[in-house]
Amino acid sequence: MIKVSEAKLNDVFAAIAAKQALYMPVEKKDGEAEYAQWAEGVEYSRAQNTVRSAKDFFFPKKEDLYEIKGTSKNFKVIDSHEKIEDFVVFGVKACDAKAFSLIDRVYLNQNPVDSYYENRRKHGTVITMACNEAAPTCFCKLFDIDAANPSNGKDGNGKEFPIGDISTWMNDGNVWFEAKTEKGTKLLDSIKAELTSAGADMDAETAPVEKLKDEITAVMDSQKFANQNLSKFTHENLNPIFNSETWKHMAESCLGCGTCTYVCPTCMCYNIKDMDTGTGIKRFRTWDSCMYSDFTKMAAANPRTQQYQKFRQRFMHKLVYYPARYENTFACVGCGRCLQKCPTHNNIIKVIETINADDSIKGDK
Ligand code: SF4
Ligand code: SF4
Repeated sequence: MIKVSEAKLNDVFAAIAAKQALYMPVEKKDGEAEYAQWAEGVEYSRAQNTVRSAKDFFFPKKEDLYEIKGTSKNFKVIDSHEKIEDFVVFGVKACDAKAFSLIDRVYLNQNPVDSYYENRRKHGTVITMACNEAAPTCFCKLFDIDAANPSNGKDGNGKEFPIGDISTWMNDGNVWFEAKTEKGTKLLDSIKAELTSAGADMDAETAPVEKLKDEITAVMDSQKFANQNLSKFTHENLNPIFNSETWKHMAESCLGCGTCTYVCPTCMCYNIKDMDTGTGIKRFRTWDSCMYSDFTKMAAANPRTQQYQKFRQRFMHKLVYYPARYENTFACVGCGRCLQKCPTHNNIIKVIETINADDSIKGDK
């Protein structure tokens, strides 16, 4: 494990940024944090969470797919894959890092692979950061996410795998770095000289980090929304949950604004559009939302015409469909963004509580 004084953290950032673009949470004027590129003078924000998640780096809200320039007889296809260069994302919390693995299963672990997402995943190095505190809306513990070991992932069957390339911890004026993958080791090796000249202890004792991990675990154990009962959310209960009368009531106040899907680190739907550039056509994709009225609208009809059906789709996907397909892993990471940002106070905790209170659905009390 490598220990660097927090006062020298900017030297580490400068060393990384000299080789690759470096992004991290940065405080905005309104006090909230968003990811931004590091440059001299940019300060890392220790805010509990960013407004938008880190998924933007691998699944940006708008992404060019390709461009065709010229005429029908003489044209050139420009592939945008080539534009992606190596980059590093620092300060990713365990919840957001787990979310990458949820998207990986859909876009990488089956055919066809999403080559645009794959390209960004290959080029990106993820440096996770342990959370010393939990926001009142955090409930990562519910999904077995270990905020004290932010790069250690686990699926719903208990299988462990890395979700970050380097783990970091910050406490008492020091920052500790621990490589968790080959990519992470390579990055730390590439800045060894700069770490040494920043006075880093390249073989630091781990006891302070172990103590901090125990403290973090105790904090995360007290997350007030993490004690939900998820026993009803099984594949066997798919039909009873889907047919629950409660959806109409729950969705009554949903505006269909899509905010919950845009801030959610695990929402991954997109739409593909073409634009006439004047010299050809550009094909690009943008985030889409299952909460929108025209989502999956087809020539024949729209399969979900009422808002409650769209609302139900979002939560059925996270709590029933996804775990049924992918190793019993829920597609929520308890980041709490939907609790913070829904203008009408709808969120996944309310859905879990409401379904649990529906006695027509079998499950442990
Ligand atoms: S649940 Fe809330 S944030 Fe999501 S679409 Fe409805 S009103 Fe908007
Ligand atoms: S559903 Fe809500 S709490 Fe869960 S990952 Fe998405 S935004 Fe975070």
